[in-house]
Amino acid sequence: MFSYRHAFHAGNHADVLKHLVLIATLDYMLEKDAALTVVDSHAGAGLYRLDGDYAGTSGEAAEGVLRLLSPTVPLAVEPAPALARYLEVLKDFNPKGGAKIYPGSPFITQHLLRDHDKLKLFELHPTDSRTLAANIAQLEAGRQIAVLSEDGFGSATKFLPPPSRRALLLCDPSYEIKSDYGRVLDLVGESLKRFATGTYAVWYPIIPRPEAHDLPRRLKTMATKAGKSWLHATLTVKSSKLLTTETGDTKRPGLPASGMFLINPPYTLKAQLQPALEQLKTLLAQDRHAGFTLDTGG
Ligand code: SAM
Repeated sequence: MFSYRHAFHAGNHADVLKHLVLIATLDYMLEKDAALTVVDSHAGAGLYRLDGDYAGTSGEAAEGVLRLLSPTVPLAVEPAPALARYLEVLKDFNPKGGAKIYPGSPFITQHLLRDHDKLKLFELHPTDSRTLAANIAQLEAGRQIAVLSEDGFGSATKFLPPPSRRALLLCDPSYEIKSDYGRVLDLVGESLKRFATGTYAVWYPIIPRPEAHDLPRRLKTMATKAGKSWLHATLTVKSSKLLTTETGDTKRPGLPASGMFLINPPYTLKAQLQPALEQLKTLLAQDRHAGFTLDTGG
């Protein structure tokens, strides 16, 4: 169960999509003064070194965030505001430029939150949980942030609804085991029951697996039945076809695409994402199958 380590994947195209959507959502939610609680049910280690061993081994950031910093396909125009904002946050962690440090969702969120907001972080992997706690301790954020070495699927709802009745739940599991897909649905379903006006954001991989295809469809049904609005964004960077190696074996091409599904998204989000996704599709394309989708409903 614990073979997944996010450090291998930090800054890849999926992180770019997820974190760009996270920042745009938080920016909107933080326009109101009332305190916001962010619950990150699968937090990871919090901060990653892109020049470190893990990231260096997989090189996934090279086809993700690093392409945005020195694009092989330059943009004809300025970055769209949501993409520019993502790059600005990245720069805050790398004031000298580049992206040696890649902030995960806990650090991106903490960076944007105000003193009266709260952040609840769940991370079950013993090593990542210890690293996350140590990274967070450096911030001296006191009672604003709680790091819980607990099952995020089972425990995240205990913070819903928060006293201020304003919350964002980010659910970003590793989907290492098939049951993760069902557990995401259970978590979002239970959260909506407890707190119907919260904002719920789910990241998922688009891979040839029935559960992965069913997940956004079932989230859409859940939102529609509950009378809630939803937004579904996907980004594809390459074909999902099996590759044939020099020896004639076949191998999977690595993650070709991923999606973000939000329930009760900011009403401004679709208009912000449209031009940013158009640019990401161009900048992160690995073959002619690159593309994006952006739908809303409810
Ligand atoms: N949200 C992070 C970010 O954007 O930087 C990345 C999270 S990573 C995709 C998923 C994390 O969930 C891994 O660090 C994994 O150890 C952790 N994990 C797996 N099962 C979990 C569970 N049941 N509860 C909490 N964390 C879990």
